[in-house]
Amino acid sequence: MNMAPSGHITKPLYGSRSVYPNYTKSCKNVRKKSFSLKNGNERDALDLFVHMQREGTEFSEFTVSGVLCACAAEFAVFECRQLHAFALKASMLANIFVSTALLDVYAKCGLLLDAIRVFEFMPERSGVTWSSMVSGYVKNEFFEEALLMFREVHVSGVEFNQFIISSVLAACAAIAAKMKGFRHTREGKKYFDMMVKEHNLTPNVFHYSCMVDVLGRTGLIGEAKTLIDKMPFEATASIWGSLLSSCRVYNNVDLAEIAAKHLFEIEPDNAGNHILLSNIYAANRQWDEVIQTRKLLKETEVKKERGKSWIEIKDKVHSFMVGERNHDRIGEIYSKLEDTIKEMRKFGYRCETQHDLHNVEDNKKEELLRHHSEKLALVYGLMCLPSSAPIRIMKNLRICGDCHVFMKLASKITGREIVVRDTNRFHHFRNGFCSCGEFW
Ligand SMILES: [Zn+2]
Ligand SMILES: [Zn+2]
Repeated sequence: MNMAPSGHITKPLYGSRSVYPNYTKSCKNVRKKSFSLKNGNERDALDLFVHMQREGTEFSEFTVSGVLCACAAEFAVFECRQLHAFALKASMLANIFVSTALLDVYAKCGLLLDAIRVFEFMPERSGVTWSSMVSGYVKNEFFEEALLMFREVHVSGVEFNQFIISSVLAACAAIAAKMKGFRHTREGKKYFDMMVKEHNLTPNVFHYSCMVDVLGRTGLIGEAKTLIDKMPFEATASIWGSLLSSCRVYNNVDLAEIAAKHLFEIEPDNAGNHILLSNIYAANRQWDEVIQTRKLLKETEVKKERGKSWIEIKDKVHSFMVGERNHDRIGEIYSKLEDTIKEMRKFGYRCETQHDLHNVEDNKKEELLRHHSEKLALVYGLMCLPSSAPIRIMKNLRICGDCHVFMKLASKITGREIVVRDTNRFHHFRNGFCSCGEFW
């Protein structure tokens, strides 16, 4: 079997029927086993592995799949490739646990074609393997491919499990958002009902969350709210957050207020919710309410977690805080950022200061937004990576509206593919568009 790690490839598609279901129930516990090595400090596990590898230590398949899970948690592409090469040399790739963990890491790190290559070479696949592959498509925003694979796999009798349904519902929600049509809303409802009525599975909070997305994103906000009211447990912040995002897109102030009220209670420290509600009021020219929201934000002294982004260049992870001063090449980075912004202004970019609720003048807000960590990471990626390589950034908070516009425009001007993974989702920016359909 020859399956060496490959470089970045950007057109991973399912549907050519090159992948056939070969289901076996033999490794349902792959996740459980893989995670048994985790002690909450994945970076230490990786460092230890690299050190032991250099010393010539022999590893079992069990250890390799566990360390791969640490790679996924740390987005450690370099170590993952090393492990892939190691597993290839040690003839471990026929092992379903190792290969499933490997494809999962590649997919989570945004290297979908590498994940597909691992998947295609697997001599057997478990339900977990299929779930990981469908989830990989979804995480990388190839929603149609995820649904195609699921439809085919489902017909062939693969177990209808909760994990795969989560991914499928997420795919339906994403496509519904982009197409603004009801076909995928109907499909999502169908799988949700089938899960309960035909497969006797109890939907968990994530399934409900996806269904709220499915309904809200096509404008069925009332129906989404009814579903929340009928849920057998309390709605989470992500469910109310999803409803609030839909209210923003479809301008539903009444339900936005209800969603925001819940969010203020559940997440008192998240300034992003105040910002979203304030933007909804502003879009509806309800200026008194805008002032009230800002006042409330100030009174509750919401403390926003400091923004931080990461980018991997060669084998090193570079992290940037908002307003970073410590990076070795920070002078060059700010100067390149200024040049990029100048270039963008020619294409109509204006700093969207409504995404910053600091109680300061607009020009100060512009400066704060201009130095958001993902912008600095992007510029560093532009400086260091070859022009054909996609730029992959991880972020510890939800991307703000201004950075979202910035990334879209940067992808257009530079012709680069930019991937930002924030706390909510992957955003794939290409040619001035983002795969999220503006539901950030
Ligand atoms: Zn930002
Ligand atoms: Zn996006």
